[in-house]
Amino acid sequence: MDFLSETLDDLARSGLLREMRRIEGTQGATVRIDRSEYVCLCSNNYLSFASRPELIRAAVEAAEEFGCGSGASRLVSGNMALHEKLEGAIARFKGRPSAILFPTGYMANVGAISALVSHNDAVIVDKLDHASIIDGCRLSGARMLVYRHYDPGRLDLVLRRAANHRRKLVITDSVFSMDGDIAPLPPIIDVCNKHGAMLMIDEAHATGVLGATGRGTEEHFGIAEGDPQSRRIIMGTLSKAVGSLGGFVAGSQELIDYLRNTARSFIYTTALPPSVCAASLAGLNLIETDPQPLEKLRSNISLLNRLLKDALPDTGGPLPQSSPVTPIIPIQIGDAGKAVTISGKLFEAGYLCPAIRPPTVPAGTSRLRVSLQADHTEDQLRGFADALKWAMES
Ligand code: PMP
Repeated sequence: MDFLSETLDDLARSGLLREMRRIEGTQGATVRIDRSEYVCLCSNNYLSFASRPELIRAAVEAAEEFGCGSGASRLVSGNMALHEKLEGAIARFKGRPSAILFPTGYMANVGAISALVSHNDAVIVDKLDHASIIDGCRLSGARMLVYRHYDPGRLDLVLRRAANHRRKLVITDSVFSMDGDIAPLPPIIDVCNKHGAMLMIDEAHATGVLGATGRGTEEHFGIAEGDPQSRRIIMGTLSKAVGSLGGFVAGSQELIDYLRNTARSFIYTTALPPSVCAASLAGLNLIETDPQPLEKLRSNISLLNRLLKDALPDTGGPLPQSSPVTPIIPIQIGDAGKAVTISGKLFEAGYLCPAIRPPTVPAGTSRLRVSLQADHTEDQLRGFADALKWAMES
């Protein structure tokens, strides 16, 4: 078993060894580590819902009424009223006839992709798609083709090459998790329609965040949801802006019935606990009834983008491709070791913003991936911009 220590030594030497920090209290704009408070700039808890009293109360009440575990998979005896209620709420929120719930977003991608395509098919992905999409493609056995990031013209070329495959499935993140840019959905939809390809959109970072009411990327671009039998498939997660846990796919009733019968990460795993479903329902309900957190998140996004442009004029501020409307703001560093050093200095100054390194991002593009929350205060963001300038220059 020498390979264990050899691999760990190699990772440590190249600045890529991963270690975990222990959060002692709740998840919020600040977190407690070793009894000290840090401003948290790396969570996907965009609307700061993870510790909202409404979600906590819903989870506690559901646990008291329905217990902790669901005991079995949905298809055996684990299917409870809250699962079905949540699937209904997701379908309505995403404007689709139906939805299916998975225990995590990772499992939604892996299960749906491997159910939709197999050996005679082609699956086509943006170069920067999330790891769970890539893992789903690998598991499916379909031929995987990659198009250049953010380039519908290249997608068109790739789809031409894939013409004689039985089925074609295109998958894109709608908000790219490490770059914070938004996929150009209208031309991607046109290209997919032209080639008769299915299109799956990963709304992990868009749900609750993009569009006037947080419904996601279709709302952001003003795209109609599509007819009930549309080839467009919506995937997402309840673990980020919604503040809870669980992945989903929304689409036609036929699609959802098909996935219930074929997606192995749905069939062969225990259903989510009722308390988690209740928290998700409360999170979705808050997004629909309280516009304030999204408004506050948006004003924080504008503020930090402005502050970073002033604080880091030499680097041009955040990466140029990041969108001014997403809460993910990448700061390009390049070298993994340097990114770790800067992140360490920020930690000393009271800001939690770990370095993102290969294999999560391509070699030479290590970065700080800043992610914002509704509950960050102006003072916290001004303090962070100053600390970042100091950490990068010292
Ligand atoms: N898709 C994307 C784009 C993601 O960023 C993530 C999580 N980082 C997932 C899917 C997986 O979601 P979950 O964390 O709910 O498993």
